[in-house]
Amino acid sequence: MSEGATIAIVGVGLIGGSLGLALKRSGSASHVVGVSRPETIDRALASGAIDEGVSYDALGEGVDGADIVFLCTPISRILELLPVTMESVQAGCVVTDVGSTKHAICEVASAHRRPDVHFVGGHPMAGSEWRGVEAADPFLFQNAIYVLTPDVDVDESAVASLADCVGSTGARTLILDAETHDRVAAAISHLPQLMATSLVGMVGRLDAPEGLALKMAAGGFRDMTRIASSPYDMWRDICRTNAAAIRTCVSQFRESLDAITARLEADELASDFSYAQDIRAGIPSDSKGFMSPLHELRLMIEDRPGVIAEIGGLLAEAEINIKDIEVMKVREGEGGSIRLGFGSSDDVELAARLLEERGLTVLAR
Ligand code: NAP
Repeated sequence: MSEGATIAIVGVGLIGGSLGLALKRSGSASHVVGVSRPETIDRALASGAIDEGVSYDALGEGVDGADIVFLCTPISRILELLPVTMESVQAGCVVTDVGSTKHAICEVASAHRRPDVHFVGGHPMAGSEWRGVEAADPFLFQNAIYVLTPDVDVDESAVASLADCVGSTGARTLILDAETHDRVAAAISHLPQLMATSLVGMVGRLDAPEGLALKMAAGGFRDMTRIASSPYDMWRDICRTNAAAIRTCVSQFRESLDAITARLEADELASDFSYAQDIRAGIPSDSKGFMSPLHELRLMIEDRPGVIAEIGGLLAEAEINIKDIEVMKVREGEGGSIRLGFGSSDDVELAARLLEERGLTVLAR
């Protein structure tokens, strides 16, 4: 992407707001127009995520003049807004989206194709269960995989300029076709979500003395079911737009579970464990992960020696125990964010107050 493009962001929430902040910070965007509800626009202007904002009624004007348009609403809204966006943009514009499933979106884009406009689907593999522009983070995409799903006939230079633009946020682009993206996402994201949701539901209905199962729940159960706390609204759209791939994955998983169950009392079970250990060891440790303890806050930090010790020392003085910690990737000399997990909401509140008094930017849940 040439330096200083005009960018339009439709739906200035966590992902849209983070894109605005990151693209302005990198210099890829010289001017960012947000399209959202008026209340959101006010907050997005105040945070610096956008330079100008219009409401959805004026979407056509908002996107007209943009070099790149990012559709960042929930998937069902992306599907609704794509046709008018494709109609309204100027010739040469690159239209993309950030939806977590790709096939349905790419199909609508293809049905509304214009020879002088380039649509390239996108999915940043970064985010959180936080919502809204208040949670926007300029470092969200650093070291994250950012999947692009161009149609085979899309202009290569349009794909390259979009890749440059999202790459300027610190993300690593990965080009895939939409079907492959959705099939793999079903296996590594959508099936785990449904497993966590149904496992917690099953334990909730377990025939055991009331409260016993949760009292006994230790690390393994907590680790595996963290995502069961995810909000339904985003998942409704994901499940509806990737149902076929998810169903295929569920039946493959059922077969796999049946096979391993058949070996419960056999020595061969050891090979299932060693195979899984080998595969898991291959997960790249340098890309972003997801963590969502029940009581958490997120801190924006600068990259300097002693910053974590300072935070730990401050909380230790107040006898606040850090139960979990995740350092989002920090790029040398720039900063990033860390997430701290606590045992109670009281601890979160007290920690947030102390850290803010120390001048740190805190995003409490
Ligand atoms: P978000 O924080 O809730 O932001 C979405 C924005 O879309 C809202 O701020 C809202 O702004 C606007 N919007 C328009 N119509 C809406 C509707 N019917 N319901 C709710 N919001 C509506 O969500 P997000 O996490 O940024 O997710 C946006 C997109 O990114 C989704 O398509 C999701 O699949 C994708 N994604 C999310 C993650 C993640 O972990 N969060 C990761 C990768 C991709 P107004 O209120 O101003 O309209």
